[in-house]
Amino acid sequence: MKKLAILGSTGSIGNSTLSICESFPDRYQVVSLAAGSNIAAAFAQCQRWRPKVISIATEQLAAELSSRLFDAGITGIEVVSGTAGSIHVATLPEVNFVVSAIVGVAGLEATYAAVCAGKTIGLANKECLVAAGELIIAAAKKHNVALLPIDSEHNAVHQAMRGGTPAEVKQIWLTASGGPFRNTPAADFESITPAQALKHPTWVMGQRITIDSATMMNKGFEVIEACRLFDLPPAQVRVTIHPQSTVHSLVEFVDGSILAQISVTDMRLPILYALAYPERVPVEGKIDLTFDLATLSQLDFAPPDLDRFPCLRLAYEAAATGGTACIALNAADEIAVASFLAGNIPFLGIPRTIEKVLELTQTRHPASIQEVLEADAHARECAQSVIANHIGSPVQFAKSK
Ligand code: NAD
Ligand code: MG
Repeated sequence: MKKLAILGSTGSIGNSTLSICESFPDRYQVVSLAAGSNIAAAFAQCQRWRPKVISIATEQLAAELSSRLFDAGITGIEVVSGTAGSIHVATLPEVNFVVSAIVGVAGLEATYAAVCAGKTIGLANKECLVAAGELIIAAAKKHNVALLPIDSEHNAVHQAMRGGTPAEVKQIWLTASGGPFRNTPAADFESITPAQALKHPTWVMGQRITIDSATMMNKGFEVIEACRLFDLPPAQVRVTIHPQSTVHSLVEFVDGSILAQISVTDMRLPILYALAYPERVPVEGKIDLTFDLATLSQLDFAPPDLDRFPCLRLAYEAAATGGTACIALNAADEIAVASFLAGNIPFLGIPRTIEKVLELTQTRHPASIQEVLEADAHARECAQSVIANHIGSPVQFAKSK
């Protein structure tokens, strides 16, 4: 029986993980949960799953949740809050598997603490590998912890890697759907609205990752994530545009063989793979993850366009520099995406903000999570001030370079 802590339980990945627990109650037991500020969803999860501990973003929300639980006659659930709360959730002695699915750097400390506590990790939170990959990988080696990727591309690579040794890998290919603007002419990018950018053609996900997919920053983060997880330099992590999102990624070996992983576009599959590893769990009669081979009749692959999608270029540059460049890339993106969603900057304001912040960032290689968080906070301030200088004049912002 695997005993789970689910960080980010009320999100898209969190809910998919719980649906697996629902389908395989004999294999997976929910021990603890951590969520942000969706009290209604957190309450419903407490009712259904009766976790030992639940953490919620703030103390005030924790008090609210406690009183709702009390009113409903639900006892025996410890309600905690904030970063300390999610660390507590992730490091409980009875937990042996942590699903890391908080969005952004908010999930970093709990994920790192779980690694240091020797828990096996199912990793969805790519931003923590972008910001602190060097430290997390070193800690995982030190504590002999498996980091099992849930991100579908890395999960595919993890599966295909089982076909050879690391030394036999020539390069890996991460597939990208190309997002909603794959065929949009460059001239139209300036006027892309949040509503347009929130419509992903093949996946339904949280807001930030959906916008990151539209700018292709998501793929950029995934390049960095792959460098860290598979110990490869950026030049050996390639991106190919594959609009069908059927081949989830490929590993090319030194003898010319390419192994691809193919399956339905359903995140429950990579989550289940990570939860079950090194086994494979039969899903028949439990979840329908059948892949229709007829959909393979057309598979397209094309190189990405780094001119229309400068975020991908910026990510490759940050990957080569490492350290604070990757931290700034993620922090500036998070701020810029929020500003874009709030209507304060245009779509192309996202890469422009990030490029400016990267220019202003001094390269360093933080030696602790505390230093990562300081660099992260600094990059956020920097992004805020880059944006503040342009708020009210989005046109001018759009033109500035
Ligand atoms: P989401 O926005 O749907 O969910 C995010 C979760 O994090 C929610 O439970 C939210 O309450 C929680 N959260 C936010 N701030 C928090 C805080 N300060 N403290 C505690 N909890 C907090 O996002 P998602 O789509 O589920 O993505 C989660 C992570 O998985 C992201 O890093 C994303 O890049 C990655 N990922 C998602 C998908 C996908 O298909 N959704 C695929 C690959 C990778
Ligand atoms: Mg992905």
